[in-house]
Amino acid sequence: MKIGTPKEVFDGENRVAMTPDSALQLQKLGYDCVIETGAGLAAGFSDATYEAAGVEIAATAASLWQESNIIAKVRPPSDAEAEWLTADKTLISFFYPASNKELMDLCASKGASVIAMDMVPRISRAQKMDALSSMANIAGYRAVIEAGNNFGRFFTGQITAAGKVPPAKVLVVGAGVAGLAAIGTSTSLGAITYAFDVRPEVAEQVESMGAEFVYLDFEEEQQDGAATGGYAAVSSPEFAAAQLAKFRELAPDIDIVITTALIPNREAPELWTEDMVKAMKPGSVIVDLAAERGGNCKLTVPDEKIVTDNGVTIIGYTDFPSRMATQSSTLYATNIRHMMTDLTPEKDGNPVHNMEDDVIRGATIAHASEVTFPPPPPKVK
Ligand code: NAD
Repeated sequence: MKIGTPKEVFDGENRVAMTPDSALQLQKLGYDCVIETGAGLAAGFSDATYEAAGVEIAATAASLWQESNIIAKVRPPSDAEAEWLTADKTLISFFYPASNKELMDLCASKGASVIAMDMVPRISRAQKMDALSSMANIAGYRAVIEAGNNFGRFFTGQITAAGKVPPAKVLVVGAGVAGLAAIGTSTSLGAITYAFDVRPEVAEQVESMGAEFVYLDFEEEQQDGAATGGYAAVSSPEFAAAQLAKFRELAPDIDIVITTALIPNREAPELWTEDMVKAMKPGSVIVDLAAERGGNCKLTVPDEKIVTDNGVTIIGYTDFPSRMATQSSTLYATNIRHMMTDLTPEKDGNPVHNMEDDVIRGATIAHASEVTFPPPPPKVK
């Protein structure tokens, strides 16, 4: 069978779901590979590099979709792309089914199978397919690089002939996958790094990376991450107030704030208020990785960089992985390749859509003309 990757049609998207390396691995699973001409260019992969890896080049999107049995892409399909699906095709992409119900219904009505990479269960066995973590890792790294690019000083402290330079102070709010990547990048650049999360179990990880965990003077409530599958829940008003009071105390002294705090299926909690921005020194930088879900900072404008009257830069870009398209395409294509490995137990180029498999079932949102989202709760072993 044939796996095809089209050029992404979403405006400004630079990533691509197949790389020459991933294509070589897919061929070892028995598949033929095809890519739309120019699909990899923005990520640094020319048609010639694909051809050298044995990939056929399709001249148009229409011919790519027509000749592929399995279509691997990054963004959810456009309506026009979904119209090209047929009962014998499988689509693999990010999909965000909870927010894209009509699109999901359209794909199911075509009889196609759809695997949503954002629905891969976050269990140990599926880590190699966990594209959300791959992209969050890149976003966390890039947030620090972006902050540095907009900050007028060094991260690390220096003693030079021309004088002593103090280290930058960085606060990372939310220590999930993106937050931990930001912490690691910040400490490796030499900044004094603080981090806060409502889940106390991450304190050890934060400290092992050379950062300081910010504790609240608040004994009564600590979130039990294990009770919510490792994710945060909404904080009590008292806890939230104590958190804001702590941030208010830190704001005048912090140079760079990276916010990554999210609660599944909700708007991002507002954690960095207008008065905190006003209390920061001119030249300080805020990078709000929660911008797409409303932002953790009150003043964030999604997809924009703004500078406040008191000289604080606030970055609300929502496309950090696309800004590092070579890296993100490489990791995403590898996540897809691992998904194909699980779908092809005989390595014979024939996918077996085993709905008894927890990972395949969890990620499948349309199959055999039915919408199969949401998946049933995981089986208790
Ligand atoms: P996320 O993107 O949903 O949230 C980011 C972080 O924000 C989380 O650490 C959360 O606790 C924190 N947060 C929420 N509200 C906050 C607040 N008010 N103040 C400060 N911080 C707040 O998280 P994620 O990166 O997707 O990771 C969530 C969990 O999933 C973690 O336990 C992680 O270890 C786990 N995980 C497991 C796997 C796996 O096993 N395959 C993969 C990835 C993540």
